[in-house]
Amino acid sequence: MELDPSLMADLRQVGQDLYRFGLVTSHGGNLSVRLGSHVWITGTGKRLGYLEATDIACVSETGELLGGATPSSDTAIHLAVYRSADASAVVHAHAPHAVAITASAAVFVPEDLEGRYHLDDAPVVDQGPGAAERVAAALAERRVAILRDHGVYARGEDLWAALHWVMALEESARISWLRRSLVALSPAREE
Ligand SMILES: [Zn+2]
Repeated sequence: MELDPSLMADLRQVGQDLYRFGLVTSHGGNLSVRLGSHVWITGTGKRLGYLEATDIACVSETGELLGGATPSSDTAIHLAVYRSADASAVVHAHAPHAVAITASAAVFVPEDLEGRYHLDDAPVVDQGPGAAERVAAALAERRVAILRDHGVYARGEDLWAALHWVMALEESARISWLRRSLVALSPAREE
């Protein structure tokens, strides 16, 4: 199985963007792309900001390793998304504001215009057994979902679309965070 150079270029650039914008730590997050009956996915423990072709794994739709690196430990989640949602790419990141603001929420509803326009809302699903199927079910209905206390998963027709939804969600979460901070601070400022 040969990794197409243009696909590798997209994986590398999207990984760099996630790292540059603080959406993953040095070894966090993962990316995948579905091409026909197989899936290219970043290897476990690889650094998204510095991806090389040897960091990428190729697996079948059922998770059988077809070549390359040891696949991400999140491979089962990516494959579950491809089974149930209209997606050709999945991005998983550790968007800090989105995770923090939904710690005890069932859903995140953007308060800003852009977020409402692009995302409607983002379901929050719980960790534990069945999490892969819960993420997949959420992404069958929405472009991005949050795994509680962990990170976000987005789907798209390509990596760039999935990156867009991750960034849109994080921006909306950051705006909501700022708004709530201002409200919390306002009584003190009036004294
Ligand atoms: Zn993660």
